[in-house]
Amino acid sequence: MKKDYHMHPTVVQNPERFDRFAEIAIERGIEEVCITDHMPLIDSVQKDRIPHGKVEEYCETVHKIQEKYEGKLSVKLGIEIDYHPTILNQIEAVLNKNNFDYILGSSHLNSIRHLDIYSQNFDKDEFAEAMLKNSLLAAESGYFNTIAHIDMYKWVYTNQAFTKKDTVLHEEQHMETVSRILDAVKKNDMYLEMNVHFAANTDNMRNIYPSDIIMREALRKNVKFAYGSDSHRHEHVGILLDYLHENEPYKAAIETWEQ
Ligand SMILES: [Zn+2]
Ligand SMILES: [Zn+2]
Repeated sequence: MKKDYHMHPTVVQNPERFDRFAEIAIERGIEEVCITDHMPLIDSVQKDRIPHGKVEEYCETVHKIQEKYEGKLSVKLGIEIDYHPTILNQIEAVLNKNNFDYILGSSHLNSIRHLDIYSQNFDKDEFAEAMLKNSLLAAESGYFNTIAHIDMYKWVYTNQAFTKKDTVLHEEQHMETVSRILDAVKKNDMYLEMNVHFAANTDNMRNIYPSDIIMREALRKNVKFAYGSDSHRHEHVGILLDYLHENEPYKAAIETWEQ
């Protein structure tokens, strides 16, 4: 069964917008989707997040969508959580009161304003390690079903505010931390997400996360995989699924997700 478990239709801000996401999902033969709008963050103003104080409304809206699509498209209630030890109170406030089908754990140090990562003058390797160490804590925390886009730190380098653009990333140097994340994912019976958002936006398959080297290690460890388009636009629902089906190491992984 084809499933897409990561999308941002921003249903509180615009409940009708999901209809276009659903239309594309059905057109592409996807039978189940999970809505995973971003949690509210106290010190963030990003417009694509669930507004402050509206998580209950978000859940109610998704429940109405589920009823509307019954028999046509299975819709799950998910959420994307920004993990960091300094915001556990915010994370717990969201998770404790609500009953989600699926909880994505993301290391988005760039979104948590008080961390002020762009003033820290990280080189690429230092930043990669900081993001991965945070994903490791997320994987060990027990809050999540899935670790999202494990190596999206590469995308942060493209941000104007990332200062040390000319340094070189040595991906293999981070494999020890990656390996610990994969072990925690396995131990806690979680999934590792294959995320195509950045590849779809740049039309560059090298921006599928996880990268080849991480995928091969995860397959070797028999980690479970999930697929997420991370669509912020309806055209991206289910995108690049054909590519994943046709190309190793993603082919072996996507087949386990769709069983
Ligand atoms: Zn994310
Ligand atoms: Zn996302």
